[in-house]
Amino acid sequence: METLFKHQIDFISYLQRLLQEGDFSSTYKFAFLHAIADICIEKNIQNSERLTIPFDEIVDKLILLYWQHAKPFSTNTTAKVDGGILLQNAGKQSKIISDITFLQLDGIKNLSQAKNSSLWKSIYKNTLNTLKKGPLWRLQVLSKQEDCFLFPHTKGQNFIELNEGVAGCFRQFHDLVVRFTRQGWIEKISKIQDNQTVVGRSGELNDFLFGTNRSSIVQAVGVLQEIQQGECFYCNKPIKGAPEVDHFIPFAKYGNDLGHNFVLTHKSCNNSKRDYLAALPHRDNWINQNLVTHEATIKNELSSYFSCDPERTSYVADWAYQIAKKNGSRLWLSKDTFI
Ligand SMILES: [Zn+2]
Repeated sequence: METLFKHQIDFISYLQRLLQEGDFSSTYKFAFLHAIADICIEKNIQNSERLTIPFDEIVDKLILLYWQHAKPFSTNTTAKVDGGILLQNAGKQSKIISDITFLQLDGIKNLSQAKNSSLWKSIYKNTLNTLKKGPLWRLQVLSKQEDCFLFPHTKGQNFIELNEGVAGCFRQFHDLVVRFTRQGWIEKISKIQDNQTVVGRSGELNDFLFGTNRSSIVQAVGVLQEIQQGECFYCNKPIKGAPEVDHFIPFAKYGNDLGHNFVLTHKSCNNSKRDYLAALPHRDNWINQNLVTHEATIKNELSSYFSCDPERTSYVADWAYQIAKKNGSRLWLSKDTFI
């Protein structure tokens, strides 16, 4: 237990050093760190395990993380930034952003559509190149010196292997890592001079870069209405008026839209649940509804809009409930009631 505790302190200290002493000339390193953190909670692993992460998975995650960033932030035509799209490094736009913009201009709306497009092969190759030329070997260079706390710099492989206990720390401190990383990422974007003509308050920037895409989660309403027969997932009463789509595992805890993570609710139930995890009876109902009974229907209806991977979804849920249990967090049952 003591060793685990020491390791956790070392992890947090390393993270602080990484963000303070790392040389972040573009935003790639933030994206890479964010990607590793997300991948660690999408797996079924034990704390001390050495986790192997194939480059393929990192590439997918990088494209997913940059997806929203490649849209125009502003329609201000006097903006110096090309098409209102924020620069991710000083000077030329990042390759990954121009590639995603290209996909989006072609009418492609999300990663699953991108993977089925004829452009995917070259975009995958470019992103892999970017990863290898940039953040892969630079993330762990602190004050000009290599310090490989997270994973060894072993060349010639197509994966990284996280050192013992590192994946466990990413799972325990996912929330912190993501907050630190996003904050650094936003500051980096705000400091790039050409972005300053379009960037407003950083709250807006946070919502734009890392918020859920409200217009796309509307896609889930139809299928959920059918599955839940017009009733609210949490209180089982009929929904009169406009329903809301809730992220069962809150978006604040896991900032990706997974097709099986949506439930339909009253506005008032959704507002009351906010960023809390739902109580265990709700979890059982959710597993039963979305991951067992209607797993295939959800996949069929939503996979062209969202990633639909029931296994990954259930690992993310396991992670969220494990951490809540460890931390003694209370779970939301109904309006103003926690257990
Ligand atoms: Zn309700």
